[in-house]
Amino acid sequence: MPIAPERLPLVLSPTPCHRLSVLSERLGLELWIKRDDLTGFAFGGNKGRKLEYLMPEVISKRADTVVTCGALQSNFIRQLGAACSRLGIRCVAAVMSHPYEDEPVAGVERGESGNVLLDELLGVELRKFADDTWESLYAAAAQIAFELRSQGAAVHEIPIGGSSPLGAYAYYMAAEELRGLPEFDTILFASSSGSTQVGLAAAFKGSDTHVLGIACDPEPEITGDFAKISAGLAELIGANIAIRPEEFNLDFDFVGPGYGVASDSGMSAIRTLAQTEGVFLDPVYTGKAFAGLLSLALAGRIKGRVLFWHTGGTPALFSV
Ligand SMILES: *Cc1c(COP(=O)(O)O)cnc(C)c1O
Repeated sequence: MPIAPERLPLVLSPTPCHRLSVLSERLGLELWIKRDDLTGFAFGGNKGRKLEYLMPEVISKRADTVVTCGALQSNFIRQLGAACSRLGIRCVAAVMSHPYEDEPVAGVERGESGNVLLDELLGVELRKFADDTWESLYAAAAQIAFELRSQGAAVHEIPIGGSSPLGAYAYYMAAEELRGLPEFDTILFASSSGSTQVGLAAAFKGSDTHVLGIACDPEPEITGDFAKISAGLAELIGANIAIRPEEFNLDFDFVGPGYGVASDSGMSAIRTLAQTEGVFLDPVYTGKAFAGLLSLALAGRIKGRVLFWHTGGTPALFSV
């Protein structure tokens, strides 16, 4: 029997889950929302759940420093910074304003407020690099880890977005919080580095619930990375829940101009949810996912009981 991963409680779970009555009526759906924007941890978001399982590893390795990387407005870095504050661990992150896959994205310059302000308050050390590829961002983080180690730090490196089998395990476990509610036909959410989707897809494998990620990264090959995380999760829990790349339901129609760049339909979806239900979304992830939900619902492609899993990110609203 595999041993259950250790958990460091950080988020106030279960998070609320409630019906969106105005939009249910308007869209002809039974529409619910799972409020992981309200984790009660560092302004909320899906990274808090992942960190509950990632931080025990940092503790067990006796690290005094963590090194990660991400976009300047990374929600992960903010939540990692908060977890590090609790544990008295130094947090260093390599960041680029708009890292890209092959070609730079013509994005508006994002402000230095939002997550950057919160990072600063948390004492996160942001090491800023000029925009370049994701590969060179990962290389920059590796170089920082190397340098800090050579200065005597006990460094633990954390992958981007906290996406690892342990990160996916957090969402595999989070699915348990829906127990007691009638089954959903579709669970829809913003998907990027993959562990949220891998965990939820594993939890609902073989059920009638359609687990649908709306991609926020324009990389169709990303499901190959998801499959690797999924194989790791299957091994971790000792269950036959591995998912092949082609089995992930990932919709690329709502990415817009590129990763980290607001889209018109995303901004419009943010206004729609704010003006019907008084709930805020973010420009990088959940706004785009909700644009997908609205469009698929209007086209009759999602029906019945639909759950929007709100993954957070709202501090980035203050940087657009
Ligand atoms: C990181 C993030 C996501 C994507 O989650 P992954 O597990 O990396 O796919 C979605 N929404 C928000 C707000 C995020 O910060």
